[in-house]
Amino acid sequence: MSIRIGILGYGNLSRGVESAIAQNPDMELVAVFTRRNPESLKVKSGVPALNVSELEKYKDKIDVLVLGGGSATDLPAQTPEYVKHFNVVDSFDTHARIPEHFENVDKAAKAAGKVGIISVGWDPGMFSLLRMISTSVLPEGENYTFWGKGVSQGHSDAIRRIKGVKDARQYTIPVEEAVNRVRKGENPTLTTREKHTRECFVVVEEGADKAAIESEIVNMPNYFSDYDTTVHFISAEEMERDHKGLPHGGFVLRSGVTGFDKENKHIIEYSLKLDSNPEFTGSVIAAYARAAYKLSKEGVSGCKSVFDIAPAYLSPLSGEELRRTML
Ligand code: NAP
Repeated sequence: MSIRIGILGYGNLSRGVESAIAQNPDMELVAVFTRRNPESLKVKSGVPALNVSELEKYKDKIDVLVLGGGSATDLPAQTPEYVKHFNVVDSFDTHARIPEHFENVDKAAKAAGKVGIISVGWDPGMFSLLRMISTSVLPEGENYTFWGKGVSQGHSDAIRRIKGVKDARQYTIPVEEAVNRVRKGENPTLTTREKHTRECFVVVEEGADKAAIESEIVNMPNYFSDYDTTVHFISAEEMERDHKGLPHGGFVLRSGVTGFDKENKHIIEYSLKLDSNPEFTGSVIAAYARAAYKLSKEGVSGCKSVFDIAPAYLSPLSGEELRRTML
């Protein structure tokens, strides 16, 4: 029998989860649930789109519910709520609030006897795992994470909120010189400005004051003022033609030393180049949904992060097959 998946919320990430499920023959998508009018959704795989109020009828028809909501306000409420009835997986990515989110989900999951896997994706997610494993293996050293080149939705939204701006796309770009210094094992201390630059493509309303908009962007605290930021004003047609996708990626590096005189350097590097951030994140979520299913079958309950899941739980292959083909 295949693993029956439900998806709550239908945005970019959920569409990515939907396409990932289609690539995993041991999984089947049962339905998509939304807070909006379900008739307004075009669900590509053709499964039913239902209002969230229908979810309770699906308690015995869904093995794992994937939560596709946003980290700012949806997931802090939705994950502890829905884990009372379903095994769940979310991609909560507000790093500073992960400990608090974990506690809330853990309490509810343990009381209900369900599994909740939180903060699944690439960062947090695959990058977190790589940071953790390489730090365990090389206890003396430095960690570096570089993001991009890729679209930051949060920064794009921040520009869109400026008066006179019709549309915006913001790319985060790692500074190559900084990455190369880390790769050489120099263990540099890098400021925010030295690690990443920001490039913005902006469509403005007719007659808007471009100089004022540019100044507002580059000086925006928290988002841009600590970075070297370039702003390009483009037409709506150029935006549609050149900036439709949601690419992302980055690098996690650990630069460590071993030996009694610390004479040997070791560099661990993990890199991602993603044409589609939501489709890749959705693919990671699909693998962790399988883990949630297997753990639940074993009677496990509570909140888990990627750190707590043994790798074999992600795979559809048996332990014997894994040892024979991949060890
Ligand atoms: P999104 O497109 O804004 O979707 C978030 C939610 O908003 C959806 O679940 C949907 O819920 C609602 N929504 C979507 N389109 C809407 C529309 N046109 N009008 C009104 N509501 C709409 O966000 P996303 O790009 O899928 O990202 C979701 C979260 O994934 C992000 O907050 C981030 O935390 C996380 N993420 C994590 C990673 C990682 O590596 N860990 C990577 C990428 C993203 P309803 O259908 O119920 O309305």
